[in-house]
Amino acid sequence: MIELSTESWAQRRDDWEKLLFELFNDRVYIGFSSELGLPEDTSWLGVFLPSADLLIREACPQRFDGRRHTIVLNDSIFGDVDLTTPQVDFDSLVAHEFGHAIQGPVPDQKPAETVSLRRVAGVRKILSLRRADEPSADNSVPEWHYHGDDFIRILLHASRRLAAAGVELDDSEMFANSRYSLSPLAWYRHALGSEPADRAELPMRLAVAGDPPEAFTQLWRDDLKNHTPSARKERDGIRDATRDEEQALHISDAGSSFDFASSFYDSSEEPLAPNM
Ligand SMILES: [Zn+2]
Repeated sequence: MIELSTESWAQRRDDWEKLLFELFNDRVYIGFSSELGLPEDTSWLGVFLPSADLLIREACPQRFDGRRHTIVLNDSIFGDVDLTTPQVDFDSLVAHEFGHAIQGPVPDQKPAETVSLRRVAGVRKILSLRRADEPSADNSVPEWHYHGDDFIRILLHASRRLAAAGVELDDSEMFANSRYSLSPLAWYRHALGSEPADRAELPMRLAVAGDPPEAFTQLWRDDLKNHTPSARKERDGIRDATRDEEQALHISDAGSSFDFASSFYDSSEEPLAPNM
């Protein structure tokens, strides 16, 4: 079992990478904004962005050994926190963003050296979005955007596996339900029942395939009713909308541009509050 280091953030990050591989068989880069040359006042604290591994290759070539899912944390917020106290925020942030990695597409396998420099610059531009430059809220995008029933289910499966490995995470720090105008994670956990335990041996993507228990779906429907009647339709519309966004950004890179563009919303939407 991996012990999460309390020596330094970088070591704790390295341990998380090993832990995610051990538990989920998923090789993930966890990048720090300072290492990647990103601004301190980014609009996000943590972000999952397909193709962000291109920045790891560019800024930390010694860490890069192939295309992988990549999450980035704004380490300017960690400061000189005493690492002897439990680092719940750090760990919750990693778990939350890892949930997005599972939710997202499989990593782009196009060899990094064949990816255009313009695309790498496009990734950097998106991740460099500052708080002050954040576009004003788009009312057509629901508050829970990217944090819907599929994400909640992933988070519940992932957090159970992490807890079994000794990493206990705080529900409200891992999932800011009130921010998304949704029910608490504990309610969803109850509704999901024994599914995470029953499927604990399955690969994550298989474990969350197919329909969840009816109670879980019903809770989600109830949440949507309280939220906005058209929210579910909007979620389906978001994927279409990102295609236009991608064209507007001129960051197209044939074949994989859709993944890239669809992540734009998530990166700009990630939390401003310390608890994500
Ligand atoms: Zn998120």
